[in-house]
Amino acid sequence: MLTRKQYQFWFCTGSQDLYGDECLAHVAEHAKIIVQKLNESGKLPFEIVWKPTLITNELIRRTFNEANTDERCAGVITWMHTFSPAKSWIIGLQEYRKPLLHLHTQFNEEIPYDAIDMDFMNENQSAHGDREYGHIVSRMGIERKVVVGHWADETVQDRIASWMRTAVGVVESSHVRVMRVADNMRNVAVTEGDKVEAQLKFGWEVDTYPVNEIAESVDAVSESDTNALVEEYYDKYEILLEGRDADEFRRHVAVQAQIELGFERFLEEKNYQAIVTHFGDLGALKQLPGLAIQRLMQKGYGFGAEGDWKVAAMVRIMKLMTQDMADAKGTSMLEDYTYNFVKGKEGILQAHMLEICPSIADGPISIKCQPLSMGDREDPARLVFTSKEGKGIAVSMIDLGSRFRLIINDVNCKKTEKPMPKLPVATNFWTPEPDLYTGAEAWILAGGAHHTAFTYDLTAEQMGDWAAAMGIEAVYIDANTNIRDFKKDLMLGELFYR
Ligand code: MN
Repeated sequence: MLTRKQYQFWFCTGSQDLYGDECLAHVAEHAKIIVQKLNESGKLPFEIVWKPTLITNELIRRTFNEANTDERCAGVITWMHTFSPAKSWIIGLQEYRKPLLHLHTQFNEEIPYDAIDMDFMNENQSAHGDREYGHIVSRMGIERKVVVGHWADETVQDRIASWMRTAVGVVESSHVRVMRVADNMRNVAVTEGDKVEAQLKFGWEVDTYPVNEIAESVDAVSESDTNALVEEYYDKYEILLEGRDADEFRRHVAVQAQIELGFERFLEEKNYQAIVTHFGDLGALKQLPGLAIQRLMQKGYGFGAEGDWKVAAMVRIMKLMTQDMADAKGTSMLEDYTYNFVKGKEGILQAHMLEICPSIADGPISIKCQPLSMGDREDPARLVFTSKEGKGIAVSMIDLGSRFRLIINDVNCKKTEKPMPKLPVATNFWTPEPDLYTGAEAWILAGGAHHTAFTYDLTAEQMGDWAAAMGIEAVYIDANTNIRDFKKDLMLGELFYR
């Protein structure tokens, strides 16, 4: 299982020494209480760490630079309890390089009508101080999240929690390393892209290895290790022989077990967290990696088919963003395959030739062994299942030549009307927002790919904020989308991101 760091977020309160020591003591005390209560709320996926009140240019600069170099720190939460002259923040903000949240809150929820006097007003003036601070962050053009409301409000806490996951996606992006053991499928455009620009924008390292190097690693896996994993498969999944000989079936499954172990060791040894394969470039591999890739995706690896390294990196990042979510429903690569155009039952059947992550499965998971119509290898074993119902998002990262665009579509996952007993692959079925017709029209106008990175566990807002932090265009296809306005969004993107 791939794990990530136990990240923390720093809580930095702004003030100044104009109000005297007693006021500053209150500021620190209030901030400490807020941090403690937020940590105790049970809402936040990461710990918040209180930092001494920032009252001078020097301290602000030093604190931001410490945040830059502290590997556990995934972002800074700022809040101006009193007035904090914003020129004091310029150098610190200029040098700061991690995600920034502006929590626009106030210690007290209600105006203390009977007791309020000017001392109280001067001590509790975030409505005033946060505007001064917000002004300079906007003037400097720094991307940040602004969350408004009382800190004890559950909605505010949920928004902080949501942003924390985005921040981890931002910080982790530059640690994503994608291994290509095949080039892009011949003549395919949308899976291509500028890998140098991707490293500049997202920090992704995308490297190629000859497929036979990883095939040697597969060959080196012992028979006993392979058999032990096959046993695990047979315990965990239903075996659907469908008329095949049981021994022959097991030998096919063992090929995938050996691939899973060989690939995992090769990826670990060389420190990659995502991989792409291609059915047309398998070298000495006996089968297209199917079940093996499905299992690796469930362990947290990113994956893209037919050399699609952009999808592989996005799947990895979205798995990092959703890691350790108590009620997670799953994240996978998917592919738009075929439509149901029956009125009232419209949707897109999502699948791939094999490689769908079982984290999105609903109900039992079976192993089947079937021929592939593409490629020229043995019949590959694969996990077959249907997926959970509910809301999700499908995202597509495309390279438009001069820039990247992230397309984000809200989708509603459903069960198909009837089972599909002859289909030997895992599936999902969804209706895109706002409806199939508008959703697919907008997707095509935006240039979205057939491969997507899909999750039930993140929101369009989180992925849009991630894109903003990366400095790339994001377009949203959701319940509010209409084609006339959507085309204007695309035109604005042409101007802004040129
Ligand atoms: Mn494909």
